[in-house]
Amino acid sequence: MKYHIFGEKKEALHLEELLQRRKHIKDDVYPDIVFSLGGDGTILKAVQKFVAQKNVKFVGINLGKLGFYTDYECKEADQMLYDIENGQYQLASYSLLEYVFKNDDIAYQGYSLNEIAIISPIHTQIIDVFIDQKHFETFRGTGFLIATPTGSTAYNKSLGGSVIDPNIQAMQLTEIASINNRVYKTLSSSLVFSKQTKLTLQSNFENDYITVDGIFNEFRKVKEIIVSLSDKTANFIVKNRTDFWDRVKKSFL
Ligand code: NAP
Ligand code: MN
Repeated sequence: MKYHIFGEKKEALHLEELLQRRKHIKDDVYPDIVFSLGGDGTILKAVQKFVAQKNVKFVGINLGKLGFYTDYECKEADQMLYDIENGQYQLASYSLLEYVFKNDDIAYQGYSLNEIAIISPIHTQIIDVFIDQKHFETFRGTGFLIATPTGSTAYNKSLGGSVIDPNIQAMQLTEIASINNRVYKTLSSSLVFSKQTKLTLQSNFENDYITVDGIFNEFRKVKEIIVSLSDKTANFIVKNRTDFWDRVKKSFL
């Protein structure tokens, strides 16, 4: 296999030794397998970097973080490589969001494994929400979060959104501090959309923070945000018999 190691250095060197000894080939540009050493943040960054490439698989190795996406521990590296070489693993395909952030000149495109967060820290943001091109509501408040099923246990959960089984292809829209009074009204509940739905948010997002998987990029003067579930998935090598609700229990209870 062609591999790339993403993450913290010391442990990476040990894994590198093991991989070299087993005659695998280092390829930092077009790897078949990306080993992520760290926690979820490391995985999210590795996915941001490589997921657009075809046929790439991710393996999460936990280095003392929560590691919702990580299946393996460093000390299991030998067994893990043996399992991978012998196909003794399960492949988990996680839904990705596909986004387009548009301004007058540019359309920024990409994927998200956890969520897209749109946050206006100072002023009330007025956002028009369209579901499949039809106007649904005008929101006033701090912002919105759009989460995948595997991302539903992250920021989405802190906002009171639902935890969603990743076998359900869905995306969830959750409000952040909406204003609801005699004058302004939103639905308030989290909305769960099917694969076919295209969600559009329109506003002047110029002073908002738009983050993808907890990573902030300066998307300039965005006026329209279009999000749907992608046909593309992030494919993870996970241990046999891995179950989402075991993962949730292990991480939270
Ligand atoms: P971080 O500040 O370390 O992340 C916060 C916590 O969320 C960490 O414990 C992280 O695990 C965990 N986490 C990440 N993805 C998860 C998932 N899908 N399910 C359950 N827990 C998850 O920052 P980070 O490591 O770069 O992660 C970025 C993510 O942090 C964002 O995508 C967002 O979901 C989350 N976040 C949450 C809040 C909030 O809840 N108020 C605010 C900002 C960002 P590790 O310890 O393994 O890193
Ligand atoms: Mn982290």
